[in-house]
Amino acid sequence: MRRRRAGWGVPAVLVALLAASGLGACGPADGAVREDLPQPSVSAATVPPEPAAAVSAAPVPVAPVPAVAAAPAAPTPDELAGLTSRDVPQSLDGAFDVVPGRAPAPGAGPVKTIRVEVEQGVPVDPQRFAAFVMDTLNDPRSWGAGGRMTFARTDGDDATLRVLLASPDTSRRLCRPLETYGTLSCRNGARAILTLYRWTNGHEDYADDPTGYRHYLVNHEVGHALGHAHERCPGPGLPAPVMQQQTLGLKGCAQNPWPHP
Ligand SMILES: [Zn+2]
Repeated sequence: MRRRRAGWGVPAVLVALLAASGLGACGPADGAVREDLPQPSVSAATVPPEPAAAVSAAPVPVAPVPAVAAAPAAPTPDELAGLTSRDVPQSLDGAFDVVPGRAPAPGAGPVKTIRVEVEQGVPVDPQRFAAFVMDTLNDPRSWGAGGRMTFARTDGDDATLRVLLASPDTSRRLCRPLETYGTLSCRNGARAILTLYRWTNGHEDYADDPTGYRHYLVNHEVGHALGHAHERCPGPGLPAPVMQQQTLGLKGCAQNPWPHP
């Protein structure tokens, strides 16, 4: 059995409710805090005096060194997910902004059109969040694997599915009648409703791979919207099906965020 941190426990009645309802759930946090190490101070007195330069008669040609621009630092997992803060406002006013932008479907097969929406006040860069959602769904390991389908993005009324990121209290309200307590995500109609609680905090079973957990959240809830029901862990050590409620525990399976890994 895996140890649960205080406050993350999911009541058995909720587990049963989730299993019975066919609706979706999600999971906990890594919360690592980096601390900057103090920099050693260098005083002028520690710099050795320069030796007298020997001057040769013939100047030695020196090959020019091309200037190399410093490579930009790779985004952290939180930056990749669009987070601009790890603060999770418990309650916001429930107004959503549609993330502006359209993109054609890049793959083959039937096109599903996604609209991404973020609750006002949620601390994310909306374009980065939308890019994460779309990159997940159009990953060759996602629902469109092998030309099964492909995902376009819209900011209009032509969406097949909507993916929302909401504060815990708003997600709880939008998920009703399913009770999520604001700590589990869900699918309600054509909406995949991701709670900022999980988007930020992740899950202890994915503590080594917060990005993988976020891929799981998107794939799992969109999977419900595509008509997929829950699945069970098929056996110890085997990859968890993406439609397993991995937020409620891996049940001996290995973490797996993808429908077609
Ligand atoms: Zn589910």
